[in-house]
Amino acid sequence: MLRNEDVIRISKEHNFDLVGFAKAELLGKEFEHYLAWLEHGYQAGMKYMEENKEKREDIKKVLEGAKSVISLGINYYTQQFYSGVKTNGKISKYATGKDYHLVIWEKLFLLIQKLKDIDPSFEAISYVDTGPMMDKVWSMRSGIGWQGKHSNIINKEYGSWFFIANIITNKEFDYSEQIEDFCGTCTACIDACPTRAITEPYVVDSNKCISYHTIENKGEIPKELAGKFDNWIFGCDICQDVCPWNIKFSQTTLLAEFNDRNNNKELELDRVMQLTEEEFKSLYSKSPIKRVKLKGLKRNAKFLNESI
Ligand code: SF4
Ligand code: SF4
Repeated sequence: MLRNEDVIRISKEHNFDLVGFAKAELLGKEFEHYLAWLEHGYQAGMKYMEENKEKREDIKKVLEGAKSVISLGINYYTQQFYSGVKTNGKISKYATGKDYHLVIWEKLFLLIQKLKDIDPSFEAISYVDTGPMMDKVWSMRSGIGWQGKHSNIINKEYGSWFFIANIITNKEFDYSEQIEDFCGTCTACIDACPTRAITEPYVVDSNKCISYHTIENKGEIPKELAGKFDNWIFGCDICQDVCPWNIKFSQTTLLAEFNDRNNNKELELDRVMQLTEEEFKSLYSKSPIKRVKLKGLKRNAKFLNESI
């Protein structure tokens, strides 16, 4: 039989900093918030966010007989000092190291194998921010953190600089207590967002979000956003950088994979415009930056260049 302490111990051995447990239940108000968000069109071009609604509401449609969700968090924070040079584009902290999917999938695989060694009847389906699962909701239900007004999950020990992974399983556990919302009266993230993308507390309109446009948007970046990108070429950390919980509690990751050892935090815009497919592949095939493809990275560089 698997116990909470087994999962916690083995998760820590595989560098997961945060572990929590939630009962597998139908989502209620969280699902309604998601539907309202879609109704506003705040998913912008992310059509995949509209798919698999039944599974998002009921994870038993993902794993039949699901009893629990194990939520995991892995700290990726490295302190970055950006030069402020206008002809350079800034890379979000989460993307300066190795692609987190590659790192976390491997750790999840080993963790699940070890749990199966203890209990061969342990069944698991796991996701790292992909798949038909509301990962932030489950991390809150598992007591990993609360949702900040910028919509990211915040933990009192690590701030919001961590990746989330979830395991849906057929086993029961003692369930974690949910953490209350510690945002209080703070509005620092809302006030700092240069495009006013946080339309109200806890709601981000992707149509205005720099992170969406520089990573997920497959088309042109709207002209009305010119001059508002604060030189972000891939992602945007502004709302998390100003959060008091991050200012006070960020801890540097111990994982070499997420350390920015290649000084990858800025790209010269002119250099980006000259990159060939071969160079792009060799530089970014194991980086989250590959998601935007060379065409997208050049579009971002051009957009920033035109806004100088
Ligand atoms: S990521 Fe940037 S643009 Fe998006 S909500 Fe946060 S501050 Fe605004
Ligand atoms: S900046 Fe303030 S309001 Fe925004 S997430 Fe952090 S604590 Fe909450």
